[in-house]
Amino acid sequence: MNSVAIIGAGITGLTAAWKLQQQGIPVTVYEAGDHAGGVIQSVRRHGYLAESGPNTILETAPEIPALIRDLGLEQRRMYSSPAAEKRYLVRNRKLIALPGSPLGFFGTSLFSANAKLRLLREPFIAPAPASQEENLAEFVQRRLGQEFLDYAINPFVAGVYAGDPNHLSVKHAFPKLYNLEQRYGSLIKGQVLGARERKRRAEVSKQNAKKFSFDEGLQVLPQAIRDQLGRDVLFNSPVTIIQQDASGWTVTTPNETRRHSGVIYTGPAYRLPQIEVRIERYINCAPLSQVHYPPVATLVLGFRREDVRHPLNGFGMLVPELEPFNILGALFSSTMFPNRAPRGHVLLTVYLGGTRAPHIANSDFDTQLNLALTDLRMLLGVNGAPTFVHHAVFRHAIPQYDVGYGRFKTLMDEIETNAPGLFLAGNYRDGISLGDSIVSGHKVAGRVREFIRGKGDLLEAVQTLAAV
Ligand SMILES: Cc1cc2nc3c(=O)[nH]c(=O)nc-3n(C[C@H](O)[C@H](O)[C@H](O)COP(=O)(O)OP(=O)(O)OC[C@H]3O[C@@H](n4cnc5c(N)ncnc54)[C@H](O)[C@@H]3O)c2cc1C
Repeated sequence: MNSVAIIGAGITGLTAAWKLQQQGIPVTVYEAGDHAGGVIQSVRRHGYLAESGPNTILETAPEIPALIRDLGLEQRRMYSSPAAEKRYLVRNRKLIALPGSPLGFFGTSLFSANAKLRLLREPFIAPAPASQEENLAEFVQRRLGQEFLDYAINPFVAGVYAGDPNHLSVKHAFPKLYNLEQRYGSLIKGQVLGARERKRRAEVSKQNAKKFSFDEGLQVLPQAIRDQLGRDVLFNSPVTIIQQDASGWTVTTPNETRRHSGVIYTGPAYRLPQIEVRIERYINCAPLSQVHYPPVATLVLGFRREDVRHPLNGFGMLVPELEPFNILGALFSSTMFPNRAPRGHVLLTVYLGGTRAPHIANSDFDTQLNLALTDLRMLLGVNGAPTFVHHAVFRHAIPQYDVGYGRFKTLMDEIETNAPGLFLAGNYRDGISLGDSIVSGHKVAGRVREFIRGKGDLLEAVQTLAAV
């Protein structure tokens, strides 16, 4: 059997490769860059451990701990410290802790009395017709009110998607929220009643899921898979042509052409049209270049403990767009994982740009550092120069599941149907979190296995017929 080609050594591609290899199906992973993990990039320097890309994995599905266990990484997994439970939002230029319970919600100064009363009306608001595709801002205004949109959802969406609630589709970007309304008629009712179903599916809601990384950062996970795959991962191998023929597939890079029994594409959606896809029943992949990936800049900054006034007793802070600041938010990285900074120092991870301010992510390093330091001074009482700086820019960070994203999903389904043996998986299709990407890699490996098994059955049938 020829190996299955996997394009992209991000967490989706590597999970798929590992699962297939475990089932005795040979794989070849093609990676355009020179490292495993895609946007996962952990750097250990001068006693600090910086993450330019993602910081934590939420344990939302059983496939996630199963992968860690199967790779023998349980001893290296680190759950975030209980000291990092609190989450801060900025209102009136000050940090206010997000209430941790429904009772706390009624006492918080984060929302006005009117906003709290407005929330009580939520169970009585009729759901929108299923035929109407709303953006997240419309959905939240309708169900929860303007203040909740401005001071909870707007910063939350900046933190998760680096996105804008005015563009993101509630149906595609937040399908669980959408389904709660469609199914139970109310988010509050659905939250209570849906808990039983999640339990049955062994799923954990994002707000209750445990967060983890590893002793040397998230990079440990892709590196462990890469070590297991060995020479089956080809770096500096950007795929330029995928071709289907009567006996299977060929994949071409500037270095070589190899035969494969199937192909999984896990690179970003906007890059698929840059590959020449020659399939027997033509399908135009060009529209996928329109999937929007805003730029994000990350600044990981170390400070002497005494140079930061705030106790940093939490996960981090998010900044609503209405507040007069430039950063999207900051993680208190050394509170989450104390091994991220040397003794007597702290580490903050600051994000800039996104759909809210792409010009900032595209500005130069000095501008970004000045903006970040100005905001941190005001918000956290930071004074003194950073003792550590690590900077990264993702020109195309996270796919935005904007209103109308359904047309891209339909096209992805059509590509898989029209070209049996070509599979699409990753954060542009199955959800943007690392957990979603692991599940996506896991599931696509299952589809590939079925495809290969189906071909085996067909071959057996032909051989039997020939023998007859
Ligand atoms: C700044 C940032 C912070 C984030 N924070 C979090 C977080 O804290 N928690 C969380 O759960 N998620 C977070 N995310 C989201 C999450 O990290 C990603 O959605 C996930 O890692 C995507 O994995 P992937 O394998 O699907 O794609 P990628 O990681 O993008 O990997 C795709 C790979 O394909 C390769 N490739 C592309 N084209 C080709 C080609 N033609 N040939 C060969 N190879 C190719 C690329 O080089 C890349 O290595 C964050 C994302 C970013 C950018």
